[in-house]
Amino acid sequence: MNEQLLRDGIVETSRRLSADGLSPGRSGNVSARFNGGMLITPSGLPYDVMSRNDIVFVDREGMPSGDLKPSSEWQFHLGTYLKRADVMAHVHTHSLNATILASAHKPIPAFHYMVAVAGGDDIPLVDYATFGSEELAANVAGGLANRNACLIANHGLCAVGHSLDAAYELAAEVETLAAQYVKLLELGEVHLLPAAEMERVLELFKTYGQPPRNEDAGG
Ligand code: 13P
Ligand code: ZN
Repeated sequence: MNEQLLRDGIVETSRRLSADGLSPGRSGNVSARFNGGMLITPSGLPYDVMSRNDIVFVDREGMPSGDLKPSSEWQFHLGTYLKRADVMAHVHTHSLNATILASAHKPIPAFHYMVAVAGGDDIPLVDYATFGSEELAANVAGGLANRNACLIANHGLCAVGHSLDAAYELAAEVETLAAQYVKLLELGEVHLLPAAEMERVLELFKTYGQPPRNEDAGG
């Protein structure tokens, strides 16, 4: 994809996170695969003043270019692109309910069939490590090895996808599921779906919705 369009897409996704209340304060970061490495939000810059030229390119060796420092979490973003060929974008947030569950060290089990949206029968929780550390990058890589989203203990959530929109939508969906699960835990009665049912849902999700449009089709 065109670099300027991708830079604009990252700014727009970051603003959306902020407008939708998914990234309190300056928390969270957004990246997209580009040119063997990635384009990523700069560290600590409020989303409303961020423009396309503030987005930082980091190459596959982890070398940034430009004047601004990349997000402190560049290692876990780059790690996903190096380990998962299918991933094109990564969104990290401290959204309210996902962070509450992560801080209670509770992964999200199959209380609702939509949990399958992350690619399995739960949304896993990975261990805490200091923000920006190599250890945290290793923990996140473990959580995203078989899922498109995971919670990070005492921190927040990560979501990846084949586009910025897909990663954003997954982050928003995980926050919705987290909000539902937090309320369910308050009621105290949790009825999990059986593994066989989640397998059926995962199968159905492969063809759910409309078939992809063929943009190249003539006419
Ligand atoms: P950055 O501003 O460096 O991206 O950090 C925000 C964050 O969420 C750290 O985990
Ligand atoms: Zn964070």
